[in-house]
Amino acid sequence: MSQPLTVPPGKRIRLKDFDPAWCGGEEKRRALAETQRNVQALGELAYRLYAENRRALLIVLQGMDTSGKDGTIRTVMDGINPQSCQVTSFKAPSEEELDHDFLWRIHRAVPRRGNVGIFNRSHYEDVLVVRVRGLVPEKEWQSRYDRINEFERLLCDGGVRLVKFFLHISKEEQRQRLQARLDDPTKRWKFSRRDLEERKLWAEYQRAYEDALTRCNTPHAPWYIIPSDRKWYRNLTVSRVLRQVLEEMDPQFPPPEPGLKELTVE
Ligand code: AMP
Ligand code: MG
Repeated sequence: MSQPLTVPPGKRIRLKDFDPAWCGGEEKRRALAETQRNVQALGELAYRLYAENRRALLIVLQGMDTSGKDGTIRTVMDGINPQSCQVTSFKAPSEEELDHDFLWRIHRAVPRRGNVGIFNRSHYEDVLVVRVRGLVPEKEWQSRYDRINEFERLLCDGGVRLVKFFLHISKEEQRQRLQARLDDPTKRWKFSRRDLEERKLWAEYQRAYEDALTRCNTPHAPWYIIPSDRKWYRNLTVSRVLRQVLEEMDPQFPPPEPGLKELTVE
Protein backbone atom coordinates (compact mmCIF):
# COMPACT_ATOMS: atom_id res chain seq x y z
CA MET A 1 0.00 0.00 0.00
CA SER A 2 1.22 3.47 -0.68
CA GLN A 3 0.41 6.76 0.96
CA PRO A 4 -0.86 9.53 -1.29
CA LEU A 5 0.75 12.98 -1.18
CA THR A 6 -2.32 14.79 -2.38
CA VAL A 7 -6.03 14.53 -1.77
CA PRO A 8 -8.73 15.29 -4.34
CA PRO A 9 -10.11 18.83 -3.85
CA GLY A 10 -13.28 18.85 -1.78
CA LYS A 11 -12.38 15.68 0.13
CA ARG A 12 -11.98 16.04 3.88
CA ILE A 13 -8.37 15.66 5.05
CA ARG A 14 -7.77 13.80 8.31
CA LEU A 15 -4.17 13.92 9.41
CA LYS A 16 -4.39 10.69 11.38
CA ASP A 17 -4.80 8.94 8.02
CA PHE A 18 -1.30 10.11 7.08
CA ASP A 19 1.72 8.47 8.69
CA PRO A 20 4.42 11.08 9.35
CA ALA A 21 7.05 8.33 9.48
CA TRP A 22 6.07 6.90 6.11
CA CYS A 23 9.02 6.27 3.82
CA GLY A 24 7.46 4.23 1.06
CA GLY A 25 9.95 1.37 1.38
CA GLU A 26 12.67 3.68 0.04
CA GLU A 27 16.24 3.06 1.05
CA LYS A 28 18.04 6.00 2.60
CA ARG A 29 21.24 5.71 0.58
CA ARG A 30 19.41 5.67 -2.73
CA ALA A 31 17.08 8.41 -1.58
CA LEU A 32 20.02 10.72 -0.84
CA ALA A 33 21.45 10.08 -4.29
CA GLU A 34 18.14 10.76 -6.00
CA THR A 35 17.64 13.92 -3.95
CA GLN A 36 21.02 15.17 -5.18
CA ARG A 37 20.02 14.55 -8.78
CA ASN A 38 16.69 16.29 -8.25
CA VAL A 39 18.37 19.28 -6.64
CA GLN A 40 20.68 19.63 -9.61
CA ALA A 41 17.79 19.30 -12.05
CA LEU A 42 15.89 21.96 -10.13
CA GLY A 43 18.80 24.34 -10.63
CA GLU A 44 18.74 23.78 -14.37
CA LEU A 45 14.96 24.14 -14.60
CA ALA A 46 15.01 27.31 -12.50
CA TYR A 47 17.66 28.70 -14.84
CA ARG A 48 15.33 28.15 -17.78
CA LEU A 49 12.44 29.70 -15.87
CA TYR A 50 14.60 32.77 -15.29
CA ALA A 51 15.63 32.98 -18.95
CA GLU A 52 12.03 32.54 -20.11
CA ASN A 53 10.96 35.38 -17.84
CA ARG A 54 7.24 34.76 -18.24
CA ARG A 55 6.11 32.74 -15.22
CA ALA A 56 7.03 32.30 -11.57
CA LEU A 57 6.96 29.46 -9.06
CA LEU A 58 5.79 29.99 -5.49
CA ILE A 59 6.56 27.33 -2.91
CA VAL A 60 4.67 27.52 0.38
CA LEU A 61 6.12 25.67 3.38
CA GLN A 62 3.95 25.10 6.42
CA GLY A 63 4.30 22.80 9.39
CA MET A 64 4.52 22.70 13.15
CA ASP A 65 7.62 24.00 14.94
CA THR A 66 10.65 21.78 14.13
CA SER A 67 8.86 20.20 11.16
CA GLY A 68 11.83 21.07 8.96
CA LYS A 69 10.88 24.16 6.98
CA ASP A 70 14.39 25.62 7.26
CA GLY A 71 16.09 22.30 6.56
CA THR A 72 13.99 21.75 3.45
CA ILE A 73 14.94 25.17 2.12
CA ARG A 74 18.62 24.54 2.82
CA THR A 75 18.70 21.18 1.07
CA VAL A 76 16.23 21.37 -1.73
CA MET A 77 16.87 24.90 -2.98
CA ASP A 78 20.63 24.44 -2.97
CA GLY A 79 20.99 24.32 -6.75
CA ILE A 80 18.97 27.44 -7.54
CA ASN A 81 20.78 30.65 -8.43
CA PRO A 82 20.21 33.03 -5.48
CA GLN A 83 19.64 35.84 -7.98
CA SER A 84 16.40 34.30 -9.21
CA CYS A 85 15.20 32.93 -5.89
CA GLN A 86 13.86 34.68 -2.77
CA VAL A 87 13.01 33.20 0.59
CA THR A 88 10.54 35.09 2.76
CA SER A 89 10.01 34.07 6.38
CA PHE A 90 6.76 35.30 7.84
CA LYS A 91 6.90 36.15 11.53
CA ALA A 92 4.25 37.73 13.74
CA PRO A 93 3.06 40.79 11.79
CA SER A 94 4.51 44.23 12.48
CA GLU A 95 2.30 47.17 13.42
CA GLU A 96 2.38 48.39 9.86
CA GLU A 97 1.40 44.97 8.56
CA LEU A 98 -1.44 44.76 11.06
CA ASP A 99 -2.73 48.08 9.74
CA HIS A 100 -3.39 46.41 6.39
CA ASP A 101 -5.40 43.40 5.29
CA PHE A 102 -3.75 40.06 6.05
CA LEU A 103 -2.73 39.46 2.44
CA TRP A 104 -0.93 42.77 2.00
CA ARG A 105 2.47 41.60 3.21
CA ILE A 106 2.04 38.31 1.39
CA HIS A 107 1.23 39.79 -2.00
CA ARG A 108 4.35 42.00 -1.93
CA ALA A 109 6.53 38.94 -1.43
CA VAL A 110 5.14 36.97 -4.39
CA PRO A 111 7.99 36.19 -6.83
CA ARG A 112 8.28 38.22 -9.99
CA ARG A 113 8.31 36.63 -13.45
CA GLY A 114 11.21 34.27 -13.92
CA ASN A 115 11.74 33.76 -10.21
CA VAL A 116 11.20 31.10 -7.60
CA GLY A 117 9.74 32.34 -4.31
CA ILE A 118 9.78 30.35 -1.11
CA PHE A 119 7.49 31.16 1.78
CA ASN A 120 8.71 29.91 5.14
CA ARG A 121 5.26 30.19 6.75
CA SER A 122 2.71 32.19 4.82
CA HIS A 123 -0.82 33.56 4.68
CA TYR A 124 -1.87 30.23 6.19
CA GLU A 125 -0.66 31.46 9.57
CA ASP A 126 -3.70 33.73 9.44
CA VAL A 127 -5.97 30.70 9.74
CA LEU A 128 -3.61 28.71 11.99
CA VAL A 129 -1.89 30.57 14.83
CA VAL A 130 -4.43 33.35 14.50
CA ARG A 131 -7.29 30.89 14.88
CA VAL A 132 -5.75 28.76 17.62
CA ARG A 133 -4.69 31.80 19.63
CA GLY A 134 -7.93 33.67 18.94
CA LEU A 135 -6.05 36.72 17.62
CA VAL A 136 -9.05 37.87 15.59
CA PRO A 137 -12.77 37.09 16.02
CA GLU A 138 -13.94 33.78 14.54
CA LYS A 139 -16.08 35.50 11.92
CA GLU A 140 -12.96 37.13 10.55
CA TRP A 141 -10.74 34.05 10.29
CA GLN A 142 -13.64 31.96 8.97
CA SER A 143 -13.93 34.27 5.96
CA ARG A 144 -10.22 33.96 5.22
CA TYR A 145 -10.35 30.51 3.60
CA ASP A 146 -12.38 31.97 0.74
CA ARG A 147 -10.14 35.04 0.55
CA ILE A 148 -7.09 32.76 0.35
CA ASN A 149 -8.60 30.69 -2.46
CA GLU A 150 -9.46 33.83 -4.40
CA PHE A 151 -5.98 35.25 -3.85
CA GLU A 152 -4.31 32.06 -5.01
CA ARG A 153 -6.58 32.03 -8.07
CA LEU A 154 -5.45 35.57 -8.85
CA LEU A 155 -1.80 34.56 -8.62
CA CYS A 156 -2.35 31.51 -10.74
CA ASP A 157 -4.12 33.51 -13.46
CA GLY A 158 -1.19 35.92 -13.41
CA GLY A 159 1.30 33.17 -14.23
CA VAL A 160 2.40 32.14 -10.74
CA ARG A 161 2.44 28.39 -10.20
CA LEU A 162 1.73 27.52 -6.57
CA VAL A 163 2.93 24.44 -4.73
CA LYS A 164 2.04 24.09 -1.06
CA PHE A 165 3.79 21.66 1.26
CA PHE A 166 2.58 20.62 4.68
CA LEU A 167 5.53 19.05 6.51
CA HIS A 168 3.79 16.45 8.64
CA ILE A 169 5.60 15.34 11.81
CA SER A 170 4.42 13.36 14.81
CA LYS A 171 4.14 14.84 18.27
CA GLU A 172 6.83 12.44 19.50
CA GLU A 173 9.21 13.51 16.74
CA GLN A 174 8.64 17.12 17.73
CA ARG A 175 9.46 16.25 21.33
CA GLN A 176 12.78 14.77 20.30
CA ARG A 177 13.65 17.68 18.04
CA LEU A 178 12.81 20.28 20.68
CA GLN A 179 14.85 18.33 23.21
CA ALA A 180 17.75 18.26 20.76
CA ARG A 181 17.53 22.03 20.47
CA LEU A 182 17.93 22.25 24.22
CA ASP A 183 20.74 19.73 24.44
CA ASP A 184 22.86 20.77 21.47
CA PRO A 185 24.68 24.10 21.94
CA THR A 186 24.70 24.68 18.17
CA LYS A 187 20.92 24.32 18.04
CA ARG A 188 20.03 26.10 21.25
CA TRP A 189 19.59 29.46 19.51
CA LYS A 190 16.58 27.99 17.72
CA PHE A 191 14.82 27.13 20.94
CA SER A 192 12.07 29.40 22.13
CA ARG A 193 10.03 28.93 25.29
CA ARG A 194 7.08 29.87 23.18
CA ASP A 195 7.49 26.60 21.28
CA LEU A 196 6.54 24.74 24.48
CA GLU A 197 3.38 26.81 24.81
CA GLU A 198 2.53 26.06 21.20
CA ARG A 199 3.21 22.36 21.75
CA LYS A 200 0.51 22.26 24.42
CA LEU A 201 -1.94 23.30 21.71
CA TRP A 202 -0.88 20.43 19.41
CA ALA A 203 -4.41 19.03 18.97
CA GLU A 204 -5.88 22.47 18.23
CA TYR A 205 -3.19 23.09 15.63
CA GLN A 206 -3.80 19.72 13.97
CA ARG A 207 -7.48 20.59 13.68
CA ALA A 208 -6.73 24.02 12.28
CA TYR A 209 -4.34 22.42 9.78
CA GLU A 210 -6.96 19.89 8.73
CA ASP A 211 -9.39 22.71 7.96
CA ALA A 212 -6.82 24.78 6.07
CA LEU A 213 -5.63 21.76 4.09
CA THR A 214 -9.19 20.73 3.27
CA ARG A 215 -10.69 24.11 2.50
CA CYS A 216 -7.77 25.50 0.51
CA ASN A 217 -6.94 22.41 -1.51
CA THR A 218 -7.77 23.53 -5.04
CA PRO A 219 -6.82 22.17 -8.46
CA HIS A 220 -4.78 25.33 -9.15
CA ALA A 221 -3.03 25.35 -5.75
CA PRO A 222 -2.94 21.84 -4.29
CA TRP A 223 -1.56 20.83 -0.90
CA TYR A 224 1.08 18.13 -0.65
CA ILE A 225 1.20 16.29 2.67
CA ILE A 226 4.83 15.36 3.18
CA PRO A 227 5.76 12.63 5.69
CA SER A 228 8.49 14.48 7.56
CA ASP A 229 9.59 12.43 10.55
CA ARG A 230 12.54 11.29 8.43
CA LYS A 231 14.43 14.23 7.04
CA TRP A 232 15.89 12.31 4.11
CA TYR A 233 12.44 11.14 3.01
CA ARG A 234 11.02 14.64 3.37
CA ASN A 235 13.81 16.06 1.18
CA LEU A 236 13.40 13.29 -1.36
CA THR A 237 9.66 13.85 -1.65
CA VAL A 238 9.77 17.64 -1.81
CA SER A 239 12.54 17.56 -4.41
CA ARG A 240 10.60 15.04 -6.48
CA VAL A 241 7.41 17.07 -6.45
CA LEU A 242 9.21 20.29 -7.36
CA ARG A 243 11.11 18.63 -10.16
CA GLN A 244 7.91 17.19 -11.53
CA VAL A 245 6.10 20.53 -11.35
CA LEU A 246 8.93 22.41 -13.07
CA GLU A 247 9.28 19.73 -15.73
CA GLU A 248 5.59 20.03 -16.38
CA MET A 249 5.91 23.84 -16.62
CA ASP A 250 8.71 23.15 -19.11
CA PRO A 251 10.19 26.65 -19.25
CA GLN A 252 11.77 27.56 -22.58
CA PHE A 253 14.67 29.81 -23.49
CA PRO A 254 13.23 32.81 -25.33
CA PRO A 255 13.74 32.87 -29.10
CA PRO A 256 16.79 34.93 -30.05
CA GLU A 257 16.44 38.27 -31.82
CA PRO A 258 16.32 37.73 -35.57
CA GLY A 259 19.66 37.99 -37.35
CA LEU A 260 21.86 37.15 -34.35
CA LYS A 261 23.26 34.10 -36.11
CA GLU A 262 24.93 36.26 -38.76
CA LEU A 263 26.64 38.44 -36.16
CA THR A 264 30.27 38.00 -35.11
CA VAL A 265 31.99 39.91 -32.37
CA GLU A 266 35.06 41.70 -33.78
P1 AMP B 1 9.72 30.93 13.44
O1 AMP B 1 9.12 30.25 12.25
O2 AMP B 1 10.27 29.99 14.46
O3 AMP B 1 10.68 32.00 13.05
O4 AMP B 1 8.53 31.66 14.21
C1 AMP B 1 7.74 32.63 13.61
C2 AMP B 1 6.54 32.85 14.51
O5 AMP B 1 5.72 33.87 13.91
C3 AMP B 1 5.67 31.63 14.68
O6 AMP B 1 5.38 31.42 16.02
C4 AMP B 1 4.41 31.99 13.90
O7 AMP B 1 3.26 31.37 14.40
C5 AMP B 1 4.38 33.49 14.03
N1 AMP B 1 3.55 34.10 12.98
C6 AMP B 1 3.73 34.02 11.66
N2 AMP B 1 2.73 34.64 10.99
C7 AMP B 1 1.88 35.10 11.94
C8 AMP B 1 0.65 35.81 11.90
N3 AMP B 1 0.08 36.17 10.75
N4 AMP B 1 0.07 36.14 13.08
C9 AMP B 1 0.64 35.79 14.25
N5 AMP B 1 1.79 35.10 14.36
C10 AMP B 1 2.41 34.76 13.22
MG1 MG C 1 10.75 28.80 15.93
